[in-house]
Amino acid sequence: NTPSPLPERTRIITVSNQKGGVGKTTTTVNLASALARRGANVLVIDLDPQGNASTALGVPHRPETTSVYEVLLGDATIAEALQESSDHENLSCVPSTIHLAGAEIELVSLVAREQRLRTALTAFLESSERKYHYVFIDCPPSLGLLTVNAFVAGSEVLIPIQCEYYALEGLSQLLGNIQLIQKHLNPTLQVSTILLTMYDARTNLAQEVANEVREHFPKEVLDAVIPRSVRISEAPSYGQTVHEYDSASIGALAYLEAAAEIAERGTGSKLDNEGV
Ligand code: ADP
Ligand code: MG
Repeated sequence: NTPSPLPERTRIITVSNQKGGVGKTTTTVNLASALARRGANVLVIDLDPQGNASTALGVPHRPETTSVYEVLLGDATIAEALQESSDHENLSCVPSTIHLAGAEIELVSLVAREQRLRTALTAFLESSERKYHYVFIDCPPSLGLLTVNAFVAGSEVLIPIQCEYYALEGLSQLLGNIQLIQKHLNPTLQVSTILLTMYDARTNLAQEVANEVREHFPKEVLDAVIPRSVRISEAPSYGQTVHEYDSASIGALAYLEAAAEIAERGTGSKLDNEGV
């Protein structure tokens, strides 16, 4: 359990896949928790109106809670919306509330509608006394303005891929959207990491999907794979990450491994080192 190397600059990791139920939120909270447990200061921004990341981190997100919704509208700062998670002292969360469901439409008529999260986050990171090593942004299952805000605010994208039928379906649309963001709004954004989730070693299908994804994205896919695990799926109903719920479970260990790999790679160092 050696501490991971800490990045010099804040790594802002946008966790995205427009498919629902592929493990975005589970990956966000459990990687964030794993890195916090290894000594990093970590912030999770819950950008899904469902508020599942807020729930898993034990952070209140009732309708009257100051949330990322007010931040996007310019009515609150990130410092005002931020709450300490119940998971770990190094882990904070900007919750989402049900109001965020309307933001997709409300944002359309605002100036700099794609940059609002980036502006708020930059101001926060520059003024914060605590140095944050990682920011994770948990995206909703769509490619609308909320996700665009997350791509514009991010330095890297992490794509969770469920080891199931149609795993690669929709991926070219996602990558196409990211290319548009790179071209017009955030030239330094890079797809640094792909994580295989809900892997069931007993099925040939999972292996076939994993092999196919690795063939397409040899540099981005982490060696660590997240197994399908009941402990992982039970934890959120207790308002906990898997590390808090059952730290010795195979799911917890898999997320620790994935976190260590992400930390060791640096800013997609596997990509940097090979000069791509
Ligand atoms: P998304 O955020 O992409 O919609 P979630 O992270 O909410 O996906 O995961 C969808 C569902 O699958 C949730 O009920 C979650 O608890 C469950 N789940 C996620 N990862 C695993 C896993 N490795 N093993 C078992 N269940 C999982
Ligand atoms: Mg989710």
